[in-house]
Amino acid sequence: MAVAPYLMEKFGNASSLHSAGRQARSAIEAVRGKLLSALGDPSGELIFTSGGTEADNLAVKGVGRVLRWKGDHLILSSVEHSAVLHSAQSLVEEGFKVTFVPVNHEGVVDVEALKRLITPQTVLISVMHANNEVGTVQPIGEIAKIAHDKEILFHTDAVQSFGKLKLNVREIGADLVSVSAHKIGGPKGVGALYLRQGVALKPLLSGGPHEHQHRAGTEGVPGIVGMGAALEVTLKEQSNGTLERITHLRDRLEKGLKESVSDLHINGHPTQRLGGTLNVTFLGCSGETLLMAFDLSDICVSTGSACSSGSTQPSHVLVAMGLPSQRIEGSIRFSLGWGTTEEEIQECLRRIPPIVERIRKVEGKGLSHRRTVPFPIGGQ
Ligand code: PLP
Repeated sequence: MAVAPYLMEKFGNASSLHSAGRQARSAIEAVRGKLLSALGDPSGELIFTSGGTEADNLAVKGVGRVLRWKGDHLILSSVEHSAVLHSAQSLVEEGFKVTFVPVNHEGVVDVEALKRLITPQTVLISVMHANNEVGTVQPIGEIAKIAHDKEILFHTDAVQSFGKLKLNVREIGADLVSVSAHKIGGPKGVGALYLRQGVALKPLLSGGPHEHQHRAGTEGVPGIVGMGAALEVTLKEQSNGTLERITHLRDRLEKGLKESVSDLHINGHPTQRLGGTLNVTFLGCSGETLLMAFDLSDICVSTGSACSSGSTQPSHVLVAMGLPSQRIEGSIRFSLGWGTTEEEIQECLRRIPPIVERIRKVEGKGLSHRRTVPFPIGGQ
């Protein structure tokens, strides 16, 4: 509803000075203001991007390149999204050094190890707020403090957590934060990078002076307006107890599966985890077979990250968590959202046990047909 007028009637370019352009500009600035307030820093800067991937690229490459004079070292967690991992890989090709902080079996970053990895050359630490595959939430406030004590910038990829967990960038002390519209129910192909006032970065794109010279290119007004509308709904849902309802449904699914299916493991932190995420290993099955069989029963799940689907490589997140290969092979992720109902959970619990039993009969235990990957960068 909010987007339709900007697709069908209000065609102004936000860089134009005439009234239609000013109308588009004020729509964009209203969303920028709302996002900054939701992030807890109304005086910060916000750059609209084509999504979380571009925001991560801009943060990692943009900061690395602008601070090259100061140092050439970055620290990332080993469970970052491929947008962060591959951005860092590009910097390695430009001569940077990148070190990966290990995580424990529950996917939590080893903060003591991180402290030891800092060198006088370190210019950026990037640790995601919540992991997209297992949902584990990282101690980003503690990590931001460690970074700032050493005058290092801290970036967090909050694509998964924004709208689902409390995130006040000032309280946490984050210098750069990536968010994406489609994770809060908005359109795909739009996102944003928050910048604390005074943080500089080198733009990725050459062109006009859009987005305060940080991101060249005419702003996608309908997408941005859609992101603003999704944020409003998200904030309303937060105050309606929707997140608690989703967590309750996820816990019911988890408990029900544990009761009805043998040889099953839950991956990720038992409590410090996104409420809508459930990553499960069904031992003796392959994730791809589970995905296809569940899909035929109208249950949509993912193996690894959606961005890596189609990849034959095992999840770099589960590898980094040190899980044995059989446990990685049989893992899939359920994602619950606003629309998930009690009835759907009941249906899942009715349909899944016989499917798993059938697959186990056919595939047997001890599958080991997948290759291992060079740690930690997995699929695209
Ligand atoms: N970062 C994380 C943690 C994600 O889960 C995703 C997408 O799922 C991205 C970045 C990329 O965001 P986008 O799909 O908006 O490019």
